[in-house]
Amino acid sequence: MRLTVLASGSKGNAALVETPKTRFLIDAGLNCKSLVQRLNSIGVDEHSIDAILLSHEHSDHVCGAGVFSRRFRVPVYATQLTGECTVNSVGDFHQFVPLHNSTSFSLGDAGVEVFSVSHDAADPVGFRISSLQNRHLCYVTDTGIYTSLIKQYAIGCHTLVMESNHDEIMLMEGKYPWPLKQRVRSRTGHASNREASAFLQEVWWDGMQNVILSHLSAENNIPALAYQESKRVLESMEASNTQLYGTRQHMVGSTIAV
Ligand SMILES: [Zn+2]
Ligand SMILES: [Zn+2]
Repeated sequence: MRLTVLASGSKGNAALVETPKTRFLIDAGLNCKSLVQRLNSIGVDEHSIDAILLSHEHSDHVCGAGVFSRRFRVPVYATQLTGECTVNSVGDFHQFVPLHNSTSFSLGDAGVEVFSVSHDAADPVGFRISSLQNRHLCYVTDTGIYTSLIKQYAIGCHTLVMESNHDEIMLMEGKYPWPLKQRVRSRTGHASNREASAFLQEVWWDGMQNVILSHLSAENNIPALAYQESKRVLESMEASNTQLYGTRQHMVGSTIAV
Protein backbone atom coordinates (compact mmCIF):
# COMPACT_ATOMS: atom_id res chain seq x y z
CA MET A 1 0.00 0.00 0.00
CA ARG A 2 1.26 3.48 -0.85
CA LEU A 3 0.34 6.97 0.29
CA THR A 4 1.01 10.31 -1.40
CA VAL A 5 -0.16 13.53 0.22
CA LEU A 6 -1.15 15.71 -2.73
CA ALA A 7 -1.75 18.82 -0.65
CA SER A 8 -2.08 19.65 3.03
CA GLY A 9 -2.95 22.85 4.86
CA SER A 10 -5.80 25.26 5.36
CA LYS A 11 -6.00 26.04 1.63
CA GLY A 12 -6.56 22.48 0.48
CA ASN A 13 -6.15 18.86 1.46
CA ALA A 14 -6.01 15.66 -0.56
CA ALA A 15 -4.16 12.38 -0.32
CA LEU A 16 -3.87 9.43 -2.67
CA VAL A 17 -3.95 5.89 -1.30
CA GLU A 18 -2.98 3.01 -3.58
CA THR A 19 -3.32 -0.68 -2.87
CA PRO A 20 -2.42 -3.31 -5.48
CA LYS A 21 -5.93 -3.12 -6.98
CA THR A 22 -7.50 0.11 -5.74
CA ARG A 23 -6.74 3.82 -5.94
CA PHE A 24 -8.67 6.40 -3.98
CA LEU A 25 -8.45 9.92 -2.67
CA ILE A 26 -8.93 10.92 0.93
CA ASP A 27 -10.39 14.43 0.64
CA ALA A 28 -10.51 16.49 -2.53
CA GLY A 29 -9.85 20.00 -1.29
CA LEU A 30 -8.22 21.38 -4.42
CA ASN A 31 -10.09 22.31 -7.57
CA CYS A 32 -10.49 19.51 -10.10
CA LYS A 33 -7.80 20.87 -12.43
CA SER A 34 -5.22 21.04 -9.63
CA LEU A 35 -6.12 17.54 -8.44
CA VAL A 36 -5.60 16.21 -11.97
CA GLN A 37 -2.30 18.09 -12.32
CA ARG A 38 -0.98 16.74 -9.05
CA LEU A 39 -2.06 13.18 -9.85
CA ASN A 40 -0.47 13.40 -13.29
CA SER A 41 2.74 14.80 -11.77
CA ILE A 42 3.23 11.45 -10.00
CA GLY A 43 2.21 9.43 -13.04
CA VAL A 44 -1.37 8.69 -11.96
CA ASP A 45 -4.18 8.92 -14.51
CA GLU A 46 -7.21 10.73 -13.10
CA HIS A 47 -9.48 8.12 -14.72
CA SER A 48 -7.91 5.42 -12.58
CA ILE A 49 -9.31 6.81 -9.31
CA ASP A 50 -11.90 4.41 -7.88
CA ALA A 51 -13.35 6.52 -5.07
CA ILE A 52 -13.15 9.69 -3.01
CA LEU A 53 -13.46 9.50 0.77
CA LEU A 54 -14.34 12.73 2.57
CA SER A 55 -13.37 13.46 6.17
CA HIS A 56 -15.73 16.44 6.60
CA GLU A 57 -17.40 19.17 4.58
CA HIS A 58 -15.05 22.13 5.08
CA SER A 59 -14.11 23.55 1.70
CA ASP A 60 -10.38 22.89 2.16
CA HIS A 61 -11.32 19.17 2.07
CA VAL A 62 -14.12 19.03 -0.49
CA CYS A 63 -13.96 21.90 -2.96
CA GLY A 64 -12.95 19.69 -5.92
CA ALA A 65 -15.07 16.68 -4.95
CA GLY A 66 -18.17 17.59 -6.95
CA VAL A 67 -16.52 18.29 -10.30
CA PHE A 68 -14.02 15.43 -9.97
CA SER A 69 -16.77 12.96 -9.07
CA ARG A 70 -19.03 14.01 -11.94
CA ARG A 71 -16.34 14.39 -14.60
CA PHE A 72 -14.61 11.07 -13.94
CA ARG A 73 -17.67 9.19 -12.61
CA VAL A 74 -16.15 8.55 -9.23
CA PRO A 75 -18.29 7.56 -6.21
CA VAL A 76 -17.94 9.66 -3.07
CA TYR A 77 -17.94 8.02 0.36
CA ALA A 78 -18.75 10.14 3.40
CA THR A 79 -21.03 10.15 6.41
CA GLN A 80 -24.60 11.10 5.58
CA LEU A 81 -24.32 14.57 7.15
CA THR A 82 -20.96 15.28 5.54
CA GLY A 83 -22.38 14.21 2.19
CA GLU A 84 -25.45 16.43 2.50
CA CYS A 85 -23.43 19.48 3.56
CA THR A 86 -20.88 18.91 0.80
CA VAL A 87 -23.48 18.56 -1.95
CA ASN A 88 -24.88 21.94 -0.88
CA SER A 89 -21.56 23.57 -1.70
CA VAL A 90 -20.13 21.51 -4.58
CA GLY A 91 -23.23 20.08 -6.29
CA ASP A 92 -24.33 16.48 -6.69
CA PHE A 93 -21.88 13.62 -6.86
CA HIS A 94 -21.82 11.04 -9.63
CA GLN A 95 -22.71 8.59 -6.85
CA PHE A 96 -22.89 8.97 -3.08
CA VAL A 97 -22.18 6.13 -0.67
CA PRO A 98 -23.12 6.99 2.92
CA LEU A 99 -20.76 5.80 5.65
CA HIS A 100 -21.59 5.07 9.24
CA ASN A 101 -19.31 5.98 12.05
CA SER A 102 -17.45 3.18 13.79
CA THR A 103 -18.02 0.80 10.92
CA SER A 104 -15.75 -0.76 8.37
CA PHE A 105 -16.18 -1.61 4.72
CA SER A 106 -14.23 -2.90 1.76
CA LEU A 107 -13.10 -0.67 -1.04
CA GLY A 108 -11.67 -3.04 -3.63
CA ASP A 109 -8.81 -4.76 -1.87
CA ALA A 110 -8.59 -2.11 0.88
CA GLY A 111 -10.36 -2.26 4.21
CA VAL A 112 -11.60 1.06 5.57
CA GLU A 113 -12.61 1.82 9.14
CA VAL A 114 -14.37 5.08 9.94
CA PHE A 115 -14.12 6.86 13.30
CA SER A 116 -15.26 10.18 14.73
CA VAL A 117 -12.88 13.05 15.33
CA SER A 118 -13.43 16.25 17.32
CA HIS A 119 -13.98 19.13 14.91
CA ASP A 120 -16.60 21.83 14.26
CA ALA A 121 -18.18 20.11 11.27
CA ALA A 122 -21.42 18.13 10.87
CA ASP A 123 -20.00 14.63 11.37
CA PRO A 124 -16.21 14.65 10.89
CA VAL A 125 -14.27 11.39 10.69
CA GLY A 126 -10.84 9.91 10.33
CA PHE A 127 -9.95 6.72 8.50
CA ARG A 128 -7.92 3.62 9.16
CA ILE A 129 -7.03 1.85 5.94
CA SER A 130 -5.80 -1.74 5.87
CA SER A 131 -4.28 -3.68 3.02
CA LEU A 132 -4.63 -7.40 2.38
CA GLN A 133 -0.99 -7.61 3.46
CA ASN A 134 -2.12 -6.38 6.90
CA ARG A 135 -0.48 -2.99 6.66
CA HIS A 136 -2.38 -0.21 8.38
CA LEU A 137 -2.58 3.52 7.69
CA CYS A 138 -4.31 5.93 10.07
CA TYR A 139 -5.38 9.28 8.62
CA VAL A 140 -6.53 11.88 11.11
CA THR A 141 -6.66 15.58 10.48
CA ASP A 142 -8.85 18.45 11.60
CA THR A 143 -9.37 17.45 15.21
CA GLY A 144 -9.24 19.80 18.19
CA ILE A 145 -8.12 17.01 20.50
CA TYR A 146 -6.78 13.51 20.08
CA THR A 147 -9.49 11.51 21.81
CA SER A 148 -9.14 8.04 23.26
CA LEU A 149 -11.23 6.80 20.33
CA ILE A 150 -8.73 8.21 17.84
CA LYS A 151 -5.92 6.57 19.80
CA GLN A 152 -7.62 3.19 19.48
CA TYR A 153 -7.55 3.48 15.71
CA ALA A 154 -4.00 4.81 15.56
CA ILE A 155 -2.51 2.06 17.69
CA GLY A 156 -0.87 -0.62 15.58
CA CYS A 157 -0.64 1.55 12.46
CA HIS A 158 2.46 1.34 10.30
CA THR A 159 1.90 4.83 8.93
CA LEU A 160 0.27 7.69 10.79
CA VAL A 161 -0.93 10.90 9.15
CA MET A 162 -1.70 13.32 11.98
CA GLU A 163 -2.60 16.95 12.23
CA SER A 164 0.10 19.22 13.69
CA ASN A 165 -1.66 22.47 12.92
CA HIS A 166 -0.14 25.25 14.97
CA ASP A 167 2.43 26.32 17.48
CA GLU A 168 0.46 27.39 20.53
CA ILE A 169 2.54 30.52 21.18
CA MET A 170 2.51 31.61 17.53
CA LEU A 171 -1.27 31.22 17.48
CA MET A 172 -1.84 33.22 20.65
CA GLU A 173 0.64 35.96 19.72
CA GLY A 174 -0.31 36.01 16.05
CA LYS A 175 -2.67 38.26 14.17
CA TYR A 176 -5.79 36.07 14.10
CA PRO A 177 -8.79 37.81 15.70
CA TRP A 178 -9.56 36.52 19.19
CA PRO A 179 -12.66 34.46 18.22
CA LEU A 180 -10.67 32.65 15.53
CA LYS A 181 -7.84 31.93 17.99
CA GLN A 182 -10.43 30.49 20.35
CA ARG A 183 -11.91 28.38 17.57
CA VAL A 184 -8.56 26.95 16.47
CA ARG A 185 -7.47 26.02 19.99
CA SER A 186 -10.85 24.68 21.12
CA ARG A 187 -11.68 20.99 21.53
CA THR A 188 -13.35 21.11 18.13
CA GLY A 189 -10.70 23.16 16.35
CA HIS A 190 -7.23 22.04 15.30
CA ALA A 191 -4.50 20.08 17.06
CA SER A 192 -1.30 21.92 17.99
CA ASN A 193 2.28 20.70 17.57
CA ARG A 194 2.35 19.92 21.29
CA GLU A 195 -0.88 17.92 21.15
CA ALA A 196 0.32 16.03 18.08
CA SER A 197 3.62 15.09 19.67
CA ALA A 198 1.86 13.99 22.90
CA PHE A 199 -0.47 11.85 20.78
CA LEU A 200 2.50 10.37 18.95
CA GLN A 201 4.12 9.50 22.27
CA GLU A 202 1.00 7.56 23.26
CA VAL A 203 0.46 5.62 20.06
CA TRP A 204 3.99 5.00 18.82
CA TRP A 205 5.10 1.38 18.59
CA ASP A 206 8.15 -0.18 17.02
CA GLY A 207 6.20 -1.13 13.87
CA MET A 208 5.36 2.51 13.13
CA GLN A 209 7.52 3.28 10.13
CA ASN A 210 6.18 6.62 8.93
CA VAL A 211 4.71 9.66 10.64
CA ILE A 212 3.37 12.43 8.45
CA LEU A 213 2.65 15.82 9.96
CA SER A 214 -0.30 17.39 8.21
CA HIS A 215 -2.50 20.49 8.01
CA LEU A 216 0.30 22.82 9.14
CA SER A 217 -0.96 26.38 9.45
CA ALA A 218 0.78 28.84 7.16
CA GLU A 219 0.02 31.61 9.63
CA ASN A 220 0.62 29.98 13.01
CA ASN A 221 3.27 27.36 12.39
CA ILE A 222 6.71 26.82 10.92
CA PRO A 223 7.46 23.37 9.49
CA ALA A 224 10.71 23.20 11.52
CA LEU A 225 8.81 23.78 14.77
CA ALA A 226 6.24 21.06 14.07
CA TYR A 227 9.02 18.73 13.01
CA GLN A 228 11.13 19.45 16.11
CA GLU A 229 8.37 18.64 18.58
CA SER A 230 7.55 15.27 17.07
CA LYS A 231 11.24 14.51 16.41
CA ARG A 232 11.96 15.06 20.10
CA VAL A 233 9.33 12.47 21.01
CA LEU A 234 10.71 9.96 18.53
CA GLU A 235 14.24 10.49 19.84
CA SER A 236 13.11 10.09 23.44
CA MET A 237 11.69 6.69 22.49
CA GLU A 238 14.76 5.78 20.43
CA ALA A 239 12.45 5.37 17.45
CA SER A 240 15.25 5.46 14.93
CA ASN A 241 13.34 3.34 12.41
CA THR A 242 10.43 5.79 12.22
CA GLN A 243 10.62 8.31 9.39
CA LEU A 244 9.10 11.71 10.05
CA TYR A 245 7.70 13.69 7.12
CA GLY A 246 6.26 17.15 6.76
CA THR A 247 3.60 18.07 4.19
CA ARG A 248 3.22 21.15 2.06
CA GLN A 249 0.33 23.17 0.72
CA HIS A 250 1.81 23.83 -2.68
CA MET A 251 3.87 20.69 -3.25
CA VAL A 252 3.06 17.03 -3.71
CA GLY A 253 4.71 14.97 -0.97
CA SER A 254 6.86 11.87 -1.33
CA THR A 255 5.15 8.60 -2.14
CA ILE A 256 5.46 6.52 1.00
CA ALA A 257 5.26 2.75 1.28
CA VAL A 258 2.83 2.15 4.12
ZN1 LIG B 1 -9.03 21.54 7.14
ZN1 LIG C 1 -11.98 21.47 8.95
